Amino acid sequence: MKLVTRAQWGARDYRMPNGATLYSGSRRGVKLHYLGTPYADRPHTGCAAYVRQIQAQHMDGNGWSDIGYSFAVCTHGYVYEGRGLRRRNSANGSTTLNNQDYAVLLLVGSSGLTKPTDEQLHGARDAIDYCRKEGRAGTWLGGHRDSYATSCPGDAVYAWAKAGAPRPKTEEEDMPLTKTDVAMLWKTDGVIGVPADWSPGNEHWAPASLLIDMGKRLRVLQANDAAQTAAITAMANALGRIDAAVDVDALVATVRAAVTEAVESIDVRLDVADTPK
Ligand SMILES: [Zn+2]
Ligand SMILES: [Zn+2]
Repeated sequence: MKLVTRAQWGARDYRMPNGATLYSGSRRGVKLHYLGTPYADRPHTGCAAYVRQIQAQHMDGNGWSDIGYSFAVCTHGYVYEGRGLRRRNSANGSTTLNNQDYAVLLLVGSSGLTKPTDEQLHGARDAIDYCRKEGRAGTWLGGHRDSYATSCPGDAVYAWAKAGAPRPKTEEEDMPLTKTDVAMLWKTDGVIGVPADWSPGNEHWAPASLLIDMGKRLRVLQANDAAQTAAITAMANALGRIDAAVDVDALVATVRAAVTEAVESIDVRLDVADTPK
C-alpha cells in the first residue's frame, strides 16, 4: 500500500479534546465517500495540497477537530492517512455511524472527474484491506448513502463497493493468449504474404516486421491527424482575425467533427495471401 502518513502530507494537528477520541473497538466494515463537488484530476504533486485543503475546510469551515475521513485515496493510488485506524472518523453522519464503519474517501467528484481511476481502485482496495487486517474492520462494505440520506459516494464508487471492491484487471489478464498461442495463431492463419506495395520483393514477412511496419504507419497517421488539427485551428484563428463575428471554437469543432465522421466511415481491408507461398 502506498500510505502517505499525516506527517508526510503536512497535516495540521487535530484539536483537543475531540480530535483525540480514540476508538479501537471492532467495526462492522468500511464506508466509501466521494467529494460531492466538482473535481478535476491533477498531477500527483498537487494531491497533498488538496488533502490539506479538505482538512482546512473540515476544521475551519465545519468546525470539526480534524479531517473527517479515516483515509483518502488520490487518483494515483496513494492512501492518505486521515484519522487513521485508532481514532473515530466524523464523516459518516452520526456518532453511531462513525463508530460503526471506517470512512474512506476517493478523490472523485460529482462532476468533472466522476469515475475512479484503476490506480485509485487499487489504492482504495489497499485501504479496505488495511482496515480489515490492522484495524479490526469486518467484511461489510458500502457507501455513505447506506442508512444516511446523501448521494455520496456517487454511483460509480457505490456500484464498485457493492460489487465487493474488486481490483481492476491488469492488461495481462485481459490478454489470455500465451506466447505459444500467438506463435500457433500466426502459423495456422498462414499469414506470411503482405500486399506487394507494402514490401516490394519481400513476400515473407515475419509477424514482428509486419507489426513494426503497422506501428510506423499508425504513427504517421497520428502525426497527420495532429497536423490537420493544427491547420484547422490556424485557419479558424485567421478567419476570426478578419471577421470578429466568427466563432473560432465552434468553427474548429464543426470541421473536426466532419473529419472524425469521415475517418470513422473508412473501411480498412487487409489484403493477406490466403495460401502460404
Ligand atoms: Zn460521504
Ligand atoms: Zn495523487
